[in-house]
Amino acid sequence: MPQRDYTLIGAGLAGSLLALLLTRRGARVRVFERRADPRSVGYVGGRSINLALAERGLHGLRVAGLEREVMQQATMMRGRMVHEGLEEPRFMRYGSDDSEVIWSVNRGRLNLSVLEAAEEAGAHFHFDASLGAVDFDRRELCVVDGLGAQRHVNFDSLIGSDGAGSALRAAMMDVRDLGERTEWLGHSYKELEIPAAAGGGFRIEPNALHIWPRGGYMLIALPNVDGSFTVTLFLANDGEPSFAHLHSADHVREFFVREFPSAVPLMPEYLQDFEQNPTGMLATLRLEQWHLDRRALLIGDAAHAIVPFHGQGMNCAFEDCVELDRLLNEHDDLESAFAAFAASRKPNADAIADMAIENYVEMRDSVADDRFLLLKQLERSLAGLHSQHFVPRYSMVMFRRIGYAEAQRRGRIQTHIMDDLLGNATDLNTIDYARAEQRILSELTLLP
Ligand SMILES: Cc1cc2nc3c(=O)[nH]c(=O)nc-3n(C[C@H](O)[C@H](O)[C@H](O)COP(=O)(O)OP(=O)(O)OC[C@H]3O[C@@H](n4cnc5c(N)ncnc54)[C@H](O)[C@@H]3O)c2cc1C
Repeated sequence: MPQRDYTLIGAGLAGSLLALLLTRRGARVRVFERRADPRSVGYVGGRSINLALAERGLHGLRVAGLEREVMQQATMMRGRMVHEGLEEPRFMRYGSDDSEVIWSVNRGRLNLSVLEAAEEAGAHFHFDASLGAVDFDRRELCVVDGLGAQRHVNFDSLIGSDGAGSALRAAMMDVRDLGERTEWLGHSYKELEIPAAAGGGFRIEPNALHIWPRGGYMLIALPNVDGSFTVTLFLANDGEPSFAHLHSADHVREFFVREFPSAVPLMPEYLQDFEQNPTGMLATLRLEQWHLDRRALLIGDAAHAIVPFHGQGMNCAFEDCVELDRLLNEHDDLESAFAAFAASRKPNADAIADMAIENYVEMRDSVADDRFLLLKQLERSLAGLHSQHFVPRYSMVMFRRIGYAEAQRRGRIQTHIMDDLLGNATDLNTIDYARAEQRILSELTLLP
């Protein structure tokens, strides 16, 4: 196969990992990134400071040979720590033991590790280079720097890893209808901070993802290695309560003291953080077409941005990179590789998009609901009894690498079985475990 030539737009998480994988395969890779080089100006994220890394993302790092380096700076999260009112928080483990946990990692540091490895492998990064116009017929694109100076360059094949607001996607849509649909959640987020304790160390349990569920909204906190926590408020844009109502420091204070009394003493600067930090909008992006023959392809958030409640956007984007790299290696013809990639990933992207929205309801609402807790208990006992067939959907998404669509399908069957078994019961004493076994073995195949 002749040496291939790829031009990537965006050196975020997906772009950097893909650049590394493709370069290692012997391709010529050039990446244009809108931001300045993070090594000279520091990482300017504008988005969540830390991220939950799970098995799919870890697998991508493993393939890239970066798992060890990244894990040295990761904090284990064994489960959810649920804070209700002023009561002692309640811990809910994610999996069966410490082999089933997720990890909190710093976005900027992770991005830099992958980017540096890609550069070392031979990928060429161009910073302060924002994609402007694209002429797909002449295979020429225009990049613009921060001062507005333009540069025209030729390309062979373009890959858009430029995130949810992808400029490449917009350029592709000028040529072909990609069937784009953006579903706004109607809720936004704001980041705050729990600083490290005065003498160092964590003010609350470090090895957990903390949640303050309040029905229609919630606060969450993920640990950082320096002892601090990044806190995120998720709340409706309008209505009561909503971001629209929190328009003065007094309103913000009154809302937090009323709704999150146990969190307020942990966040000495929350009023300043609230005023200074941007409010981020949340949406799900679905596209019918992900590529333009062999000339351009979208990956990561550029193709399928999702809401962040399953902590899977980056994990899914890393899975994209591994899959695309595999398919490019398998297909001699680029167009068929791109088509195979879209065909394999789109159903999975749609599935995780749906499950991420469902997880918002679970996190902000159900974790405080008695029936939900009973179902979780039942789920755990069935998973213990039939571990080869019945695996909680959360575990399939976070700790396994079976397709998201398959995890969703099996999850639906499992929910039906549990609903039928539980009926209107208020405890597990009446569960007919023989019937459970019969249904599980007849309706669920062995998990790969
Ligand atoms: C609040 C929040 C919390 C999240 N938490 C998690 C989590 O816990 N776990 C998880 O797995 N995912 C999480 N995500 C999702 C995750 O952030 C994204 O899925 C991930 O960043 C997607 O990677 P990407 O490389 O596709 O896009 P991005 O990370 O957005 O990278 C895009 C890159 O392209 C560059 N770019 C943009 N436009 C241009 C242009 N015109 N020209 C050149 N370059 C351009 C940008 O500067 C950026 O560097 C979260 C998201 C949010 C908003």
